[in-house]
Amino acid sequence: MHLRNSKNVGHYLFGRGSFDSLSEILNPRRSLGPVVFLIDHYFENQYLSKRCPIQEGDPVFYVETTDEPTTDQINSIRDRISGTVGAVVGIGGGATLDVAKAVSNLLGNPGRAEDYQGFDLLPGPGIFKVGVPTISGTGTETSRTCVMLNERKNLKLGMNSDYSIFDQIILDSTLSATVPRDQYFFTAMDTYIHCIESLLGKGRHALADAYSDQSISLCREIFMSDDMMSDENREKLMVASFLGGLAIANSNTGIIHPLSYGLSAVFKAHHGMANCIVMDVADEFYPNETVEFREFAKRQGIKIPKGIAAKADRNTFDRLYAVAIRNEKPLMNALGPNFKNILSQEKVFELYRRM
Ligand code: NAD
Ligand code: ZN
Repeated sequence: MHLRNSKNVGHYLFGRGSFDSLSEILNPRRSLGPVVFLIDHYFENQYLSKRCPIQEGDPVFYVETTDEPTTDQINSIRDRISGTVGAVVGIGGGATLDVAKAVSNLLGNPGRAEDYQGFDLLPGPGIFKVGVPTISGTGTETSRTCVMLNERKNLKLGMNSDYSIFDQIILDSTLSATVPRDQYFFTAMDTYIHCIESLLGKGRHALADAYSDQSISLCREIFMSDDMMSDENREKLMVASFLGGLAIANSNTGIIHPLSYGLSAVFKAHHGMANCIVMDVADEFYPNETVEFREFAKRQGIKIPKGIAAKADRNTFDRLYAVAIRNEKPLMNALGPNFKNILSQEKVFELYRRM
């Protein structure tokens, strides 16, 4: 049995209004150097960016999240930061938080982002990093990875390392009030999917199961209620995401994520939406969960997009398959060492065709 010596986030501050403690958290770091702020572009010129404790000399980057993070984007941000840095702060969704983690890692280590895509490749820690999620579901706030597209290698892979874990996170559910409803649902389903993949995987164990069970139970409360975005439900979802991240940090994903990575790499589909598209055709692998997932969507009036790969040509299917099948760890977790026999090229094409 593979044992993992798990690491958690250093500190976490939870509660409505907790964002205003960011200044206090950063103060001890300021003697070391300025603070780098990476803020989702949505907040540029919004009230939240005015509430950020930005001081003169702090590099501020509004992160473009129309597309998912790329290794080139991380390298270019790092190249624009000079001198010693006291802390790195990410404020946004999974994409911005991943950018913050990756930039922090590169500021503390030589080389380029693509050098560390893989497992435990970082030689040392990055800069003290703070994560502030403004949308919930990815579990990035507690996970040990930061996912990036490597367009040259047709690869979507993170810097999986204990050094990718935030030193501090702030969970303030007032920040997610402005998320568009569809996006809220798609991102939220990421935690539901992380947890069902973990629970139905071969690497499951009592600790990961406990995190997953509780996260799924919160999802049921939220998505079977009348308003998934009430103040109380947004707060519960922040907790569900936090727990889902811990579940996945202690186990692994399954079939949904590898197939979803194909959609992101080839069609630039966002992670949450791509997961939902895959989930909608995954009945033979997750029979009860796909039914429950559709029930959530129906109750909240969310439509899952259809037809993304319907008109793809042979070359596109080959690329989709190549990205998906490369995710050996999740696929082995779901299907065992002979996963390529079950998830044959024909089977994968057939699934993509139905999405
Ligand atoms: P996101 O960060 O891509 O943001 C989605 C959209 O929501 C963006 O348009 C953004 O501007 C908007 N948004 C965010 N907060 C908002 C707010 N409060 N109000 C209005 N709009 C807001 O979305 P996501 O689903 O959180 O993250 C997806 C990314 O996370 C992908 O890049 C994926 O690869 C990554 N991910 C990482 C991990 C990990 O463990 N590191 C796990 C899962 C997913
Ligand atoms: Zn995910």
